[in-house]
Amino acid sequence: MRLFSFPALQTNYFWLLQPDDNSANAYIFDPGDAEPVRQQLKQHELTLAGIVVTHHHWDHTDGIDDLLTDFNVPVYGPSSPKIPQITHPLKGGDTLALGPLTLEVLDTPGHTLEHIAYFLPNSEPPRLFSADNIFGAGCGRMFEGSAEQFVNSLQQLCQLPPDTLICCSHEYTIDSIQFALSVEPNNLELRKRQEEEKRKRAQRLPTIPSSLALELATNPFLRTTEVEVIASAEHYSGRRLTSESEVFAAIRHWKDNFGKN
Ligand SMILES: [Zn+2]
Repeated sequence: MRLFSFPALQTNYFWLLQPDDNSANAYIFDPGDAEPVRQQLKQHELTLAGIVVTHHHWDHTDGIDDLLTDFNVPVYGPSSPKIPQITHPLKGGDTLALGPLTLEVLDTPGHTLEHIAYFLPNSEPPRLFSADNIFGAGCGRMFEGSAEQFVNSLQQLCQLPPDTLICCSHEYTIDSIQFALSVEPNNLELRKRQEEEKRKRAQRLPTIPSSLALELATNPFLRTTEVEVIASAEHYSGRRLTSESEVFAAIRHWKDNFGKN
């Protein structure tokens, strides 16, 4: 297999998967724009064999119709009236065979209600197409789901092998680390990560994919049982917080307003 990521739109990464080196068939994840997908297909001499979608937001879906005018291919994704192009609806527990590869579908509500993620266990290392759930040192905004749903989704993802590469959809890592340091100013791994990711961005390199192990050590949204995270969340809220969902909701709200005084 080969996996290509490339920047698109303002802050997105799109992921193009060629499951079999001996076949030109390729699958695009979340094409929010068709033109950069066409360019990548051409550059790597691939042909589009299918479209894989995680959730309904425009920056993940706006290129679908345009691509379907050129390629008569299946569209995999969650069942949602907001994504009428889906031909093969998927839900948590399903598997998706792409050539010789099999992806596991995980229900991950929180950012949106229908959001799903795709886990590829049999690659070295494993990959998670997390879209707008886990980001580098952050997570997606809570547009539709509850804090409890989001926490459950993230906990499910945290059970994956630590060497899993987190193939998410946005380059927000530097800003997210700055926020994370407000939550955990004493997290030395986080400080180290800040230096490394800044170095990458200075060279215009992506910070994505990261690994689950790195996220577990540095991402405050996965660390809602850590003493310092709880203390910071309680300080922000001005009250005692008694569950992981409450801690998560507090830091998610804090991040939504971060930098706006
Ligand atoms: Zn989204």
